[in-house]
Amino acid sequence: MKVCVIGGGASGMMSAIMIARKGQDVSLYEKNEKLGKKIYITGKGRCNVTNATVGNEFLKNVVGGQKFVMGSVTRFNSNDTMAFFEEMGVPLKIERGNRVFPESDKSSDIIKALEKALRWASVKVNLNTSVEEIVKIENKVTGIKVDGKEVSFDAVVVATGGISYPATGSTGDGYKFAKNLGHSVISPVPALCGIVVKGEELKPLQGLSLKNVTLSAWLKEKIIYKSDIGEMLFTHFGISGPIVLSASSHINRQDFSNLKLVIDFKPALSVDGLSVRIDRDIIALKAKQTSSLLEGLLPKAMVSIFAKRLGVKLTSKANQLTKENRKALALLLKNFEILPKSLESIEGAVVTAGGINLKEVNPKFMKSKLYSNLYFVGEVLDIDAETGGFNLQLAFSTAVTCASDF
Ligand SMILES: Cc1cc2nc3c(=O)[nH]c(=O)nc-3n(C[C@H](O)[C@H](O)[C@H](O)COP(=O)(O)OP(=O)(O)OC[C@H]3O[C@@H](n4cnc5c(N)ncnc54)[C@H](O)[C@@H]3O)c2cc1C
Repeated sequence: MKVCVIGGGASGMMSAIMIARKGQDVSLYEKNEKLGKKIYITGKGRCNVTNATVGNEFLKNVVGGQKFVMGSVTRFNSNDTMAFFEEMGVPLKIERGNRVFPESDKSSDIIKALEKALRWASVKVNLNTSVEEIVKIENKVTGIKVDGKEVSFDAVVVATGGISYPATGSTGDGYKFAKNLGHSVISPVPALCGIVVKGEELKPLQGLSLKNVTLSAWLKEKIIYKSDIGEMLFTHFGISGPIVLSASSHINRQDFSNLKLVIDFKPALSVDGLSVRIDRDIIALKAKQTSSLLEGLLPKAMVSIFAKRLGVKLTSKANQLTKENRKALALLLKNFEILPKSLESIEGAVVTAGGINLKEVNPKFMKSKLYSNLYFVGEVLDIDAETGGFNLQLAFSTAVTCASDF
């Protein structure tokens, strides 16, 4: 059987390898001059290739399409991914949060391993070749169009990725192909990205990073997301960093005019516990200024913003703060509100949420419900997950699941 795989990213390479290992004649088309351009920049160049968790622990980190991917992440889980790369000669290591990296800290080793597996499986790789169209007759796909010419295939796998980081080649071509074939596409939105905030108040904080805080998102008075304790930072446009990226994936379809974000600077303490600490600090500070009290509780750059929000003078004596002032301070430390304006643009998002409508794809083999010989794998689907190696694992799991139909 002649099989075409469109896209030489993580999901395309893995599906081509696994389908070829089943004895099929596989041709892979990649528009770039080389394979795996996006893999190269993953994990800050180190490639967090998977997350060493399986089952429900893994699924908890899938944001979009959790139910849809359940079968495929069972069929080919993170242990299988690790075994695949170790067999291809890439020793791996597990770091904080079960994040798996090549021991060399080089994403290029992951790409080289996939290229080697492609060669060993005799996949025909066509670089610098942009697929223009998928050709069909009634409910059968018959091939693709390249350079205006039709090339016949018995089956086509779409592995073209999302639309974030378009310089890596993912420019949304798969959505176009799918729409032309009558599939619907859930509108793509940024996920795992920074958040632009309203107003000028936080601008002086640019460069400041906060550790051991939590971030929650509220729609009107209802909490819709709360991060784990982690790190975030202030940027020229607003906020970013690990817990902000996570939050972005949970608010990307909300109405921002009704949304607020809340930082808890002291997640280990209750408001009452914090009030006790504030009283104790004030006694210890004797006649010192309020600025000294705030500097003991917060990064220095935050102090004047806190004083403004509390309506207290930094030069006033800390021990002259009223009972109400102290309570307000404890509350503000637990509930520092930020009004989000928008998400960072999709070009800068780590992943794209949205994509091929999952209702039109059979999760057993990642097969189109409209065409019996058309498949979708990886980020082109309406699936996305948290950071930590989960997104690459989804690319590999959906690819192997597709290959199991051949
Ligand atoms: C900065 C950054 C860091 C990341 N770090 C991690 C990480 O450490 N761990 C993790 O799990 N995930 C990470 N991700 C997410 C992860 O890289 C993606 O989810 C994953 O690579 C998606 O794989 P894919 O094969 O589905 O799509 P892609 O990797 O986008 O591959 C699609 C390929 O298809 C090609 N293509 C598109 N259209 C055509 C066409 N018409 N003809 C021919 N070829 C075409 C493209 O050129 C591209 O090579 C990161 C993403 C970014 C942007």
